[in-house]
Amino acid sequence: MNRRSEDTSSLAEMKSRYRALESDYKHQLRILHAIGASSPDFTYLFDRDHRFLYVSPSLLKLWGRSLDEAVGKNFEELGYPPELVELHRRQLDEALTGKTVFGANAYISPKGVEGHYEYTFVPVFGHDSRIETIAGTTRDITKRVKADRERARVLQRLTGSEAQFRHFADAMPQLAWIARPDGFIYWYNKRWYEYTGTTPAQMEGWGWQNVHDPRELPRVLERWKASISTGEPFEMTFPLRSADHSFRWFLTRVNPVPSNQGGILRWFGTNTDIDAERQALKERDAALAAAEEAVRIRDEFLSIASHELRTPLTSLKLQLQLSRRKMESQELCAGPPDALAKSLDASVRQVARLTALVEDLLDVTRISAGRLVLKFESVDVGQLVREVVDHHREQLQAAGSTIELRLASFVRAECDHFRLEQVVANLLSNVAKYGSGKPVEISVDEHSGKARIRVRDFGIGIGPEKHGTIFERFERAVSSKNISGLGLGLYISREIINAHGGTIAVNSVLGEGSTFTIEIPMASLAA
Ligand code: ADP
Repeated sequence: MNRRSEDTSSLAEMKSRYRALESDYKHQLRILHAIGASSPDFTYLFDRDHRFLYVSPSLLKLWGRSLDEAVGKNFEELGYPPELVELHRRQLDEALTGKTVFGANAYISPKGVEGHYEYTFVPVFGHDSRIETIAGTTRDITKRVKADRERARVLQRLTGSEAQFRHFADAMPQLAWIARPDGFIYWYNKRWYEYTGTTPAQMEGWGWQNVHDPRELPRVLERWKASISTGEPFEMTFPLRSADHSFRWFLTRVNPVPSNQGGILRWFGTNTDIDAERQALKERDAALAAAEEAVRIRDEFLSIASHELRTPLTSLKLQLQLSRRKMESQELCAGPPDALAKSLDASVRQVARLTALVEDLLDVTRISAGRLVLKFESVDVGQLVREVVDHHREQLQAAGSTIELRLASFVRAECDHFRLEQVVANLLSNVAKYGSGKPVEISVDEHSGKARIRVRDFGIGIGPEKHGTIFERFERAVSSKNISGLGLGLYISREIINAHGGTIAVNSVLGEGSTFTIEIPMASLAA
């Protein structure tokens, strides 16, 4: 083969090798294109001189260039700003030493699109272990960076506002605190620590439970956990223990601070001391209840009083009408005056009953006004009781009661004769009403240096729950329907005996009878 034919054959061989290489290259380029087009990430290749060998369509689009315009150019020729040209030059040099290089930076495209990108440059080794090219991928992280920045901004704003809040909350008269969304309390104001006498270490998280009343705690926890899970504001009143271990009531309000994402960022809570208001409210309620009770008692009394007054009035009216008729018939027949006298006696009894009722009412008014005037004198108590018994003998006998008297002599008391009579008379009238017609024992003696009067019956008796109240105004142990009475006699008696420096007490068993005991100071010997 001559030299010319040798040259021709090697040229042909080279051409065919070139075509094979070109087809191989185009094949690889198609693969690269397919990969590049299938991902939003940018993919590219550099030669050892930092020039692009390949650029994926997504990056070309950002640049606004065709592949032909980009291939063979470096960052500087593609219009990158000098600082990025310099950065990427260093990074590519580093990749050429065999390292994988990671980077991230902002970049403004020729069309003015500002973005944030993170990327990796990876060395690609040839057959002879020499680095042939550098492959790179870039991811657009603009959204993530913006979200991070926004979060940081919010956090910064919040930290600033939280610091302000803490400052403000420390000056508040209320107790205040801040909790995480899960309810973990991480800050309390100064007032909280002052009031509870606790330390931050004791209180952190859920330590606040220690200053709660264990009886109230379960319902507080239940409501607070419900608020945490629903995000609803919390409002409740409950007691909190103070540094001196006493409890005071607080109104607690907790409001969620919403985050930009719609969740909860923090809970801000305040506890306002409402103990005094609560106490005042309770007292007001009690006063209201007492006033209502007083009105009820008064109304009941008025209805009983009118009934009590009407009964003798009606009888009086009847008796007087009867008397009148008898008088008329007496005139006509000039008959004996006995019937008339009887009828007039009955009228006088009704008048006496009316007078007694009115006297009782007047006495109550005197006592309320502090105008019960006593005329003290030395009185033979036995003698006084005998006179009152004599006066009531008829009434007691009419009721069926026999009378047993045990009256010690020489028992003298310093007292108001008329008023003491009134007290004993009331006890005997009560025996006639409540003694069930059974015997009555009446005694006078000296006991522990006092003059003692006892009236014992075996009648209906009084239940223990009424022993204290029957001495109060308008209080009765029986229904007004059963036995008439105003419920004033024992009240007036107690006031009279108290004014004497004495005592009146009852000892009674329901259904078995009652003993009323009066003790008043003895008269001094000189008297
Ligand atoms: P009154 O007899 O007008 O009701 P009192 O003040 O004298 O008023 O008595 C108060 C209440 O005490 C009576 O309503 C009655 O229930 C009870 N009581 C008083 N004395 C007796 C007694 N000897 N036995 C049973 N109950 C009595």
